Amino acid sequence: MVKKKSKQIYECSVCGKEYNYKRDAENCEERDKERKEMENIERVEKFTITENHLKLLKKMYVDWDDCEFGAPQINPKRPYGNSDVLDDIAEILGIKKTKENVEDYDKEEASKYSDKNEYIEDLEWKDEIYRKFNKLHKETQIALQICLCVGKFETGNFVKKETYDSLSWKKSGETIERGLD
Ligand SMILES: [Zn+2]
Repeated sequence: MVKKKSKQIYECSVCGKEYNYKRDAENCEERDKERKEMENIERVEKFTITENHLKLLKKMYVDWDDCEFGAPQINPKRPYGNSDVLDDIAEILGIKKTKENVEDYDKEEASKYSDKNEYIEDLEWKDEIYRKFNKLHKETQIALQICLCVGKFETGNFVKKETYDSLSWKKSGETIERGLD
């Protein structure tokens, strides 16, 4: 006699995709939220350029994308020269791996190494660090756009004068003239 087994289904509350395991649905939600947050960055109308944004921009490699008409682009595979983008970002920002910012640091495992740094170097960045780097990297899109349109690479607060005009960024505090709207 075959027994009917009902299977639990978990749904991601953001995209509606269904999963057999709760953890998978939770991960999906997490990824969806992160993606949304990233997309939202593109729509900001106020932005603060920090030293970190400028540090990253200064280390970017520009090449040529031949697609369509062709245009300069930041190398998307190696924006900072190496394919390990996170490690590049960490180095540029001067952040070293420590037992606090890596995933799964194991004291016992670490004790087997004469040089603990060697062990730490091989561990992955903690999720929150990964997200921080990722966000900062994404924000360089806005920072670069602002630097290009104001003609300066400097820190500070900026506002976008016209929602749909990416060239309308101005330093905040400056008189912002609005058209007949
Ligand atoms: Zn989802």
